[in-house]
Amino acid sequence: AATRRTLFRNIPTTHTYRYGSTLAFIEYNAKQNVLTPASRSCLQAAKKLNQPITALLLGSNSDKVAIKDTPNIVSKVLYNTDLKFDHQSPEYISPLICDILNKQNFTHFVIAANSVGKNILPRVAALLDLQPISDIVDIESDKQFVRPIYAGNILATVQSEQPKKLISIRTSAFPIDEEETQAKVDNAVSIPTQEYQFEIPSDIKSTQYVGSSTVQNEDGRPDLNSAKVIVSGGRGLKTKENFEKLIVPLADAFKKVPKYNGVAAAIGATRAVVDAGFVDNSLQIGQTGKVVAPDLYIACGISGAIQHLAGMKNSKVIVAINKEEDQPIEEIADFTLIGDVNDVLPELTEKLG
Ligand code: FAD
Repeated sequence: AATRRTLFRNIPTTHTYRYGSTLAFIEYNAKQNVLTPASRSCLQAAKKLNQPITALLLGSNSDKVAIKDTPNIVSKVLYNTDLKFDHQSPEYISPLICDILNKQNFTHFVIAANSVGKNILPRVAALLDLQPISDIVDIESDKQFVRPIYAGNILATVQSEQPKKLISIRTSAFPIDEEETQAKVDNAVSIPTQEYQFEIPSDIKSTQYVGSSTVQNEDGRPDLNSAKVIVSGGRGLKTKENFEKLIVPLADAFKKVPKYNGVAAAIGATRAVVDAGFVDNSLQIGQTGKVVAPDLYIACGISGAIQHLAGMKNSKVIVAINKEEDQPIEEIADFTLIGDVNDVLPELTEKLG
């Protein structure tokens, strides 16, 4: 009790704030025990709401990460190490979030619009009978948000008068400020404690964790959402074998570029090649795939259909490699190289190495 009193000294509990308070759901990388880049972006977005942030971190190592790696832009981090939370199953997490949101009177809930967030947010909204505001790209005030509609062709400004705003954020729209997210929080609180008495949901029989796809992260390849460079392949690669032979070595060659500190490029793909079975659908970029904004996006044999552009057009530098002129991708590309991927990609790979 003495330790807890010290921890709470000078730090008001969330419900004593007059204007509002934010609960941010964050995740950690279980291999490295550090917060995921998406979570850092989520906190960056939460900060724009200009009110105290409490972070919620769940999983068997959440205690370590809460203390070691949660930035001090959050005033408090709640964690729970129950094994049930290890695979971020929404069936367990959503009722817990609702419980916390209600009991502590949070006015805002923020989560990344990634596969975990897309699973949790609608459930939380349904349980609370509130309308979620999904995939926002900007925060204008505590009740006004900007979100893309029609595959990113229009930005809608939406206002919510709901008592609790339930928001998911597009992580690429909230770049991480390294300095702000470096420092560590000094107030990590295990739940349930006397003050945070929440029920951990009992075992759910209807769903069971079977496994997850880790294609992108094997051998240290970065996540599509956090990669600085993405090499992306389309139907111009023709076959699965050709995709592996040409795209993978080029992505790996970025390890040798000093600027990238031994980190390979991530691999992306169009829906055409995902549907053709060249790669796993977790690599799909676009309207119905991932939305990315790396420093460098290399589009190889990709025509630039509007649904693909919706997922990558905010990349800082876009390079298109295509054997035809006047493909739609060229309209948004900073550099276009007209050539056959079978010739250009091996040459590029060799030059990088
Ligand atoms: P293509 O359009 O066939 O283009 C292939 C390109 O390769 C051409 O430009 C060609 O000139 C070039 N090429 C061919 N041979 C070579 C060579 N040897 N060397 C160099 N270049 C070569 N698509 C997505 O990507 N992501 C999505 O999320 C997505 N969501 C969709 C949602 C809906 C509702 C719908 C209807 C479609 C969606 N699509 C999506 C599909 C999209 O419309 C396109 O069909 C798809 O993006 C085309 O992929 P592609 O560029 O690989 O193929």
